[in-house]
Amino acid sequence: MKITKIETIVVKMPMLIEGNAVPHPGGRPMTAVEVLMLRVDTDEGVSGWGEASANRLLPATKTAIDTLIAPMCIGRDPTAITDIAHHIERTLGGSGRSSVSRYAMSAIDIALWDIAGKIAGLPLYRLLGGSLRRDLPGYASLLRYSDPATVARYTERGLKRGYRHVKLHEITYPAIKAGRDAAGAEIPLMVDVNCAWNVDDAIKMARKLEPLDLKWIEEPVWPPENFAGIARARHEGGVATAAGENATFSDFYGMFQAGSLSYAQPSVARVGGITQFRKVLALAEAFGVEVVPHSAYFGPGLIATLHCAAAMQTETIVERYDIDFAVNPMHEAINPVNGRFSVPQAPGLGVEPDMAVIEKLRIA
Ligand SMILES: [Mg+2]
Repeated sequence: MKITKIETIVVKMPMLIEGNAVPHPGGRPMTAVEVLMLRVDTDEGVSGWGEASANRLLPATKTAIDTLIAPMCIGRDPTAITDIAHHIERTLGGSGRSSVSRYAMSAIDIALWDIAGKIAGLPLYRLLGGSLRRDLPGYASLLRYSDPATVARYTERGLKRGYRHVKLHEITYPAIKAGRDAAGAEIPLMVDVNCAWNVDDAIKMARKLEPLDLKWIEEPVWPPENFAGIARARHEGGVATAAGENATFSDFYGMFQAGSLSYAQPSVARVGGITQFRKVLALAEAFGVEVVPHSAYFGPGLIATLHCAAAMQTETIVERYDIDFAVNPMHEAINPVNGRFSVPQAPGLGVEPDMAVIEKLRIA
């Protein structure tokens, strides 16, 4: 079997927004989500789907795949997943193996695992060790609204939808307090500040937030590579910490050695796909750190996360960014019911993107 074609696809999915509550992640208004997907075709008619993290580097990532990384894969055996990953890494060794190149590798790796599952006739999670779980708890990962009343409203909406865990992306005490008040004392509440603070402020804020009983504070410190700083926030702030959505396997090793993390958050569409995700799982186990995947995705990346999470030793919660779409190519597979995701049971990822929807939403 040989890879014959790799096609990147960008879809733009308009968000359904209630009233005027436009979220401002990173301080900018957000009204649509762009997803960078790819399809790997083979000479035997089996195709696989992947997704790369689609942040502000989406155009660069697409170009890297189209012009450099996809051509390196054409003609290769898609079932030699480790070999392909190693070849890409060695070739890009002098150009940087993180960020754009790693997002690109992630998408290809996920697609190759999809193909492997389809060839085996098994859902991916069964190739990854199997599971008795047929569904997984999602958690509502709210966008940043800043306004306490809006935070409260969306927290309540998350609970009404059946989520039993809620994560805020707020960075001020009043907004976080509003989330806790709306959730009540029994609901585990997490706060993701996306590296908003320096180490001293992170320690101060962690202490101030202590009465709100947060399950974790995520990415408390800028810069994210300050592993010792995250460890200080954890130990001196007296709070559980989570991080890793931007980390490579080697970064996780550094964070575990520094004692930075209570929870590790490998991200399947950034870390290098399912292959690297599983390496981080093993490493985390050796260091005794719990893994809770980052999955701010709405395409094959989210579906791949479900398979990886299902095959984990212990049950984990799966991040679902709290955004509604009128239409999306994965249909209901990305939408939890009563706060729980179904684990797909068809071969491979078990969910084929709807080409009719893709053609409607496609922008590149
Ligand atoms: Mg995060």
